[in-house]
Amino acid sequence: MENRVAVITGASSGIGFATAKLLAARGAKVAVLARRKDVLDELVNQIRAAGGEAMALAVDVTSQASVDAAAAAVEAAYGPADLVFNNAGVMLPGAIEERQIDQWEHQIDLNVTGVMRVISAFIPQLAANAAAGATVDLINTSSIAGQNIYPYFAVYSGTKAYVSHLTRHLRAELGSKNIRVSMIEPGITETELQGHWTFQGAKDWLAGAQQSMEFLQPQDIAEVVGFLAAQPKHVNLQQVVVMPTKQA
Ligand code: NDP
Repeated sequence: MENRVAVITGASSGIGFATAKLLAARGAKVAVLARRKDVLDELVNQIRAAGGEAMALAVDVTSQASVDAAAAAVEAAYGPADLVFNNAGVMLPGAIEERQIDQWEHQIDLNVTGVMRVISAFIPQLAANAAAGATVDLINTSSIAGQNIYPYFAVYSGTKAYVSHLTRHLRAELGSKNIRVSMIEPGITETELQGHWTFQGAKDWLAGAQQSMEFLQPQDIAEVVGFLAAQPKHVNLQQVVVMPTKQA
C-alpha cells in the first residue's frame, strides 16, 4: 500500500475504523471521514504513533458540500485519492406497519444517496489516477442483507441491494478506464451499528443471535479491504460475501 492515498468514510467506528488502521499500517496515506471529529483525531493519533500517516476530516455524507470540501482537502494534502472505501451507513430495522418514515428516509439518504455523494466527490480523483496508470479502487460496503431476505429489514436491505447492483454497473462502466469497483457484503459484525436500533423485535433477534454465534469483528472486514486493494492491477474482485461461520 506504499504510495497509495486511501479515503475511508464511516471511519470513526466499526469497520471503517479498523480498515483505516490496517491500510495505514500497510503504508497508505489515509484520510478518515465521519462526523465525530474527536474520535477521528484520536484515530489519527493512534495511526501516527504506530508510524503511519493519516488526516481527519469532519464530514457529513448527507451533505454534498461537506463531501466535496473533504475531497478538496484530501487532494490538497496528499494528492488525488486512488482508493475510496465508501463505507458510512446506518441500519434501522422496523416493522413496516410502524411507518417510521424518518428512519426510512435516513437510511436511504445515508446508504443510497450518501454513497453517491461520495462517488461524485471522488470520481475525478480516481479517474485522474487511473489515467496516469495507478492502481485504483472504489470499494463499497454493501451487506448480506442486499441479497438475503430478513423480516423487518426491508428498507435497509433495499438500500444495500441498491449498493450491490450499483457496484456491478459501475464496474462494467469504469473497468474499461482501469478503475476497479468492488463490494463487500458482510454478515453480522460486532460494531456500533446495532446500538441505534429502536425496534424491539430486532433487538430480541439480536440478543438471540449473540447467544448462538460468534459475530464477525471489524478487523475481519478490514482484512478483506486490504486483500482487494493488494491484488495485481488487472484483478478486480467484484463481490466478496463474508459471513460469521454460524450465521445462516
Ligand atoms: P458503525 O455504526 O460502527 O459505523 C458507522 C460509521 O458511519 C460511523 O463511523 C459513523 O460515524 C458513520 N456515519 C454515520 N452517519 C454518518 C453521516 N451522516 N456522515 C458521515 N458518516 C456517518 O457501523 P459499521 O462499521 O458496522 O458499518 C459500516 C458499514 O458496514 C455500513 O455501511 C453498514 O451498513 C455495513 N454493514 C454492517 C454490518 C454489521 O453487522 N455491522 C453488516 C453488513 C454491512 P459518525 O457517527 O462519527 O458520523
